[in-house]
Formats: sequence, C-alpha cells, structure tokens
Amino acid sequence: MEQIRLDGSTGEGGGQILRTGLALSMVTGQPLHMTRIRAGRPKPGLMRQHLACVQAAVAVCGGQAEGAELNSQTLVFTPGAVRAGHYRFQIATAGSCLLVLQTVLPALMLADGASRVELAGGTHNPMAPPFDFLERAFAPLVRRLGVGLELQLQRRGFFPAGGGELVAHITPAARPLAPVDVLARGPLLNGWAEALAPGLARNIAHRELETLGQRMGWTFEAGQLRQPATRQNEGPGNALIATLEYAHVTEVFCQLGERSLSAEQVAKRLADEIRAYQLSSGALGSHLADQWMLPLALAVWQSGQAASYTCSEMTPHTETNAQTIALGLPVLVQITPVARAMRVEIRPAH
Ligand code: ATP
Repeated sequence: MEQIRLDGSTGEGGGQILRTGLALSMVTGQPLHMTRIRAGRPKPGLMRQHLACVQAAVAVCGGQAEGAELNSQTLVFTPGAVRAGHYRFQIATAGSCLLVLQTVLPALMLADGASRVELAGGTHNPMAPPFDFLERAFAPLVRRLGVGLELQLQRRGFFPAGGGELVAHITPAARPLAPVDVLARGPLLNGWAEALAPGLARNIAHRELETLGQRMGWTFEAGQLRQPATRQNEGPGNALIATLEYAHVTEVFCQLGERSLSAEQVAKRLADEIRAYQLSSGALGSHLADQWMLPLALAVWQSGQAASYTCSEMTPHTETNAQTIALGLPVLVQITPVARAMRVEIRPAH
C-alpha cells in the first residue's frame, strides 16, 4: 500500500502537519511516515499536546504508532479500521482539546456510526482554536457538508492550568459528503463580544469590553458587550472573543490575556485583527481558512466535485496545509489572489 510521507520541516513546520497527516492516514487507510516533526519550532519533536493527538488517533482506529514518545521527531503510524463509539481523551498540561478533536474528527465524520467524544484539558489555549471558534465558526461549515457536529462546553480551561471539559457529538454524513462553495460572507447580521476573566479582577473584563466597544461601535446597552457568568471551578484565565455573524459565514476572533499585556492592549489587538478581516473581501478569516481546507478536501475527494472558498489572507499554516493535503489525498489545491482576498480551489486530481 502507498504511504503518506511527510517532512515536518515543510513550510510552517509545526504541529498542524502532524495532525493533518494523522487525519489523512485514518481516512485513506494509508500508513503515515513522518520525519523531522515540528522542525520549524524551537523545541522540535512531539510535545505532550502532539502525543495526545497521536494517542487519540491510535484509539479511534486501533492503529499502531512507532516513535510515539516525547520529543520524537519521527513517527510511523499504521491505521486500522476507524471505529465509531464513545471516547474520552484527557490532555495533560492543559494541551488543547480542540486540536485533539480536529485530529480525529475527519475519521469519525466518515465512520459507520455516531460518536461521542469527551475531551478534558485546555479549551482556550494560545496558538490553538478556542472552543467558541470551533462551535460558532468551524462546526457550522462542517455541518454544511452533511455531517452532524454538536459541541457542548462543560467547563472552560485556560492555559496553563487547564481543567476544561467539552463533549463533541459527531454523526457521519450520508455519503458522499456534499462540498460547498464559500465565496462571500454576505451582509453583517450581528456583531458582539464577550470577555471571560474567571479568577481575575472584574474590572479587567470591563476595560477590555469598553476599549473594544469604542473601536467597534458596540455598547453594553445594545447587548453587544457581554460578561458571561463563570462556571464552577473555572479559571484562572482571560479571553476576549468577538463573534461576527454574516449571512453566509460566522467568524470568531479571540485574543488571550497575558500577564505582560494591559486589558486595553488585548482589546486593541482584537480590534486590529477584526479590522484586517473586515478590510479584506475574503469569506473566511486566516484561521478558519487553514482549518476548513481538510474537511472540504474530503468532500471534494468523496464527491468528485470541485469546491472553493475565499479568505482574508494566505498564512504559512494555510499554504502548508494545502501541500500536506495534496500529499495524502488525490486532490489539487490551487491558491490565487483575487480582489482584496485569496481564493482557494480544491478539485479532484483525476
Ligand atoms: P506548534 O506550533 O508548537 O507546533 P501546534 O500544533 O499547537 O503547535 P500549529 O501547527 O501552529 O500548532 O497549529 C495551530 C492551529 O491553531 C492552526 O490551525 C491555527 O489556525 C489555529 N489557531 C491558532 N490561533 C487561533 C485562533 N485565535 N482562532 C482560531 N484558530 C487558531
């Protein structure tokens, strides 16, 4: 059988190449041979977060992994048959639950039955999609392919303490997946922000919202600036999250508070991120653009039909994911600039 051979130093050179490789291996049944894992990072090799993804992949398909050890830079993963079912993954040291979920989701959304996946660890981590992004931006797109994907947050877990919990209910699509084009975001229907700051002084959340509100024209009175109640045993941590609901897509932007940043700086960073997206004409923001590529590529592969989307910018993550996907699936990914955006087209290779 053909192997998927990946060089982890390619492009972005981070953990995403591994996660995409594992997902591709599980859905195609091809073994994954990966070298130079995370060679582009200061501490290369498998960190706990990445090891958790490998272990989750092994559990979901009864696969075998050689080199699944901390700091390992080589992995040989031989997938077995994907089994729908009930899984629980505990991610140590507040690794991101959402990145582990994204590793196993492609396999489980093509499995022969429904799955329930419980995850414990971080839900709001630096350099990872926060829960709210997966729930409001990513999951609705996945549902448009015909897949059932419902996410429930039980408790938030901020880096480094973790302690978050969530549950994902995945119902496979009636095959084949139906690819969708997402070329325009459509008119803005609703925009709002929430500040989470469990375990921190209450005025932090208020100052973040006030500063963001001034820049976005959002007010407390109109319900556009919100301070959700914290749940039991949550925190400590801080995230400022903005949700923009357009007619054809919802985008979620998140900045995490840091000890060295003032509440006003956190808000300014978020406003700048939103502004950059709004100035472009792309339907998807930069993070959604790299994460949407794999589910859409699976739909193109299964249906034999091409599909496209536009995004605000081309990041190294998106470019690298395009290269990785084309090594594991018989699809071509073409990226071209269009007016104030980039267009990604995925089509069958044959
Ligand atoms: P490392 O960078 O240490 O190898 P990693 O595996 O955590 O580790 P990346 O390969 O950088 O990380 O992948 C991070 C993923 O998280 C990307 O898909 C990126 O788009 C996503 N991401 C990061 N920040 C956000 C955010 N604020 N909202 C949504 N997604 C995010």
